[in-house]
Amino acid sequence: MSAAPDSAADSAPVYRGRFAPSPTGPLHFGSLLACFGSWLLARHAGGEWWVRVEDLDPPREIAGAADRQLATLAAFGLVSDGPVVRQSERGDHYQAALDTLLADGRAFHCHCSRSELAATGGIHHQCVGSGKRAHPAVRLRVEPGTVIGFEDGLQGRFEQDVHAEAGDVVLRRADGYWAYQLAVVVDDAAQGFSDIVRGADLLDSTPRQIHLQRALGLPTPRYLHLPLIVDGDGHKLSKSMAALPIDDTDPLPSLRAAWVALGQPANRLPPAGGVPALLRAAAAAFVPERLPRQMRLPFAAPHNMPAADAV
Ligand code: GLU
Repeated sequence: MSAAPDSAADSAPVYRGRFAPSPTGPLHFGSLLACFGSWLLARHAGGEWWVRVEDLDPPREIAGAADRQLATLAAFGLVSDGPVVRQSERGDHYQAALDTLLADGRAFHCHCSRSELAATGGIHHQCVGSGKRAHPAVRLRVEPGTVIGFEDGLQGRFEQDVHAEAGDVVLRRADGYWAYQLAVVVDDAAQGFSDIVRGADLLDSTPRQIHLQRALGLPTPRYLHLPLIVDGDGHKLSKSMAALPIDDTDPLPSLRAAWVALGQPANRLPPAGGVPALLRAAAAAFVPERLPRQMRLPFAAPHNMPAADAV
């Protein structure tokens, strides 16, 4: 597929989904669940599945991690149907969206520091900064009474008072980097995604993304938030010792474990054969109604499991 990201929205099929990892480290089992889940839903709908590299936050990134993640996805047979866009190359598009919001008076420069916002739990409702920064942040104004709800494809109705719970949303950080919320909204629209499938840790970001879509006059895709894999102590996998990388050289046990974690019966996958055969069988046997309607899923990572448990 040769569509450039800016024309991709015009040629969007009925279903186009995506997996958008941040290159902050190797993919772990929790990432694989979101990745495989979004791939299965796209294949089930007869749609496309694209990968986007969310390399917006250099201080948190690890050199080479994006390429390693893409190599892992290739080893798992999960290959983008469209061009792999890197957000680090999309600054002009974020700037254009920011300029529109600033010109409309929807966005404003903010000189408040983190410590000045500590009294309101980091939530910004009005500028309280005493000084002027050389490089202020830019925020989206969220008026009182901005309550946004949506129907999540798995978690059901979700509603949030965005003013009370998120406050004025950062679009460009004071350190000059683009904020995730702006980049994700601009790119999801530019790339023509009809369906956003991702981990439940982002459920409470979705109302502010919908608010931003409305401010920019962009369409709102459908959303489905898969359960977040947590370890035995209830910690998000990426923050725990269980977040060891999934094994590129042996993808089958992790794919089988992810299939089961997605609520699908182990016996629907072939007992032997390679990755392509497993993916073909999985795409044919996947039943979305079996997905666990949970926010969190305690699960041992495959490398912690005896082989028999992994199937
Ligand atoms: N880049 C985000 C992450 O790795 C996911 C963003 C999204 O799917 O909207 O957590």
